[in-house]
Amino acid sequence: MAQKVTCTVTERSWLSPTVFELIVEPDVPVVARGGQFMSVIVPGRGPAGRDLRRAYSLAGFCGPAFRLCIKLVPGGPGSNFLAGLQCKEQFQALMPYGDFCWEESAHRHVFVATGTGIAPFRAMLEEAPRQATVYFGVRSADELIYLDACRQRGATLLTALSQEQERVRVTTIFQQHHIDFDRSTQFYLCGNGAMIQDMRALLEQKGVTKDRVAYEKYYS
Ligand SMILES: Cc1cc2nc3c(=O)[nH]c(=O)nc-3n(C[C@H](O)[C@H](O)[C@H](O)COP(=O)(O)OP(=O)(O)OC[C@H]3O[C@@H](n4cnc5c(N)ncnc54)[C@H](O)[C@@H]3O)c2cc1C
Repeated sequence: MAQKVTCTVTERSWLSPTVFELIVEPDVPVVARGGQFMSVIVPGRGPAGRDLRRAYSLAGFCGPAFRLCIKLVPGGPGSNFLAGLQCKEQFQALMPYGDFCWEESAHRHVFVATGTGIAPFRAMLEEAPRQATVYFGVRSADELIYLDACRQRGATLLTALSQEQERVRVTTIFQQHHIDFDRSTQFYLCGNGAMIQDMRALLEQKGVTKDRVAYEKYYS
């Protein structure tokens, strides 16, 4: 069950020109699984000065602390609030939420991510490394994050750059580098809504049943 926690930022760094990482430690121990997220309370940034909430996937586990990776959205209250926090500063959150987690009954795992949608997959691989294939789409090469972390956990990684010379989308890479799958393959989709919609349609065409497709939509 989710609980309210006060998190202290213990480390911060930039992973790409627009994505930063925070290591945050809750004031009380929290048991969470890869694929779950925290709901950050963004103080006073809502209408009439009310608080806002924004969801961020856990990107990994560092003892009692958690890794977050956040895309800085120009003018976005949540991402700018977190980008402004320095080490030792605190924020409040509710966690853990979500059931976008490893499907224990599956023998193969196929992850499809765009942008910071790679975060929950990094955490899942850290929690329980298994045979997994990761299809990862970003706009440009400098946005490719966590490649080594995924490879070190045994994942096969295929990347797509949508706004560089080749202009390839992750859905295209998925079709080009088709993998064998069967009833025991679980698909996980995370990131922007358009990719999720396209992938779900594609998987349906290929005869994958809905119960084998889990997804977490970050935005439309
Ligand atoms: C379950 C869940 C988990 C999430 N986990 C993460 C995470 O691990 N890392 C993360 O960066 N975001 C994550 N998000 C998105 C996050 O909750 C916010 O929507 C995002 O940080 C923008 O909030 P904002 O207040 O800064 O900007 P807003 O003003 O709320 O958003 C402005 C616009 O930014 C765009 N946008 C939102 N999120 C992203 C993104 N990740 N990448 C590119 N464009 C975006 C959308 O077009 C949105 O309309 C998650 C969302 C959900 C629902």
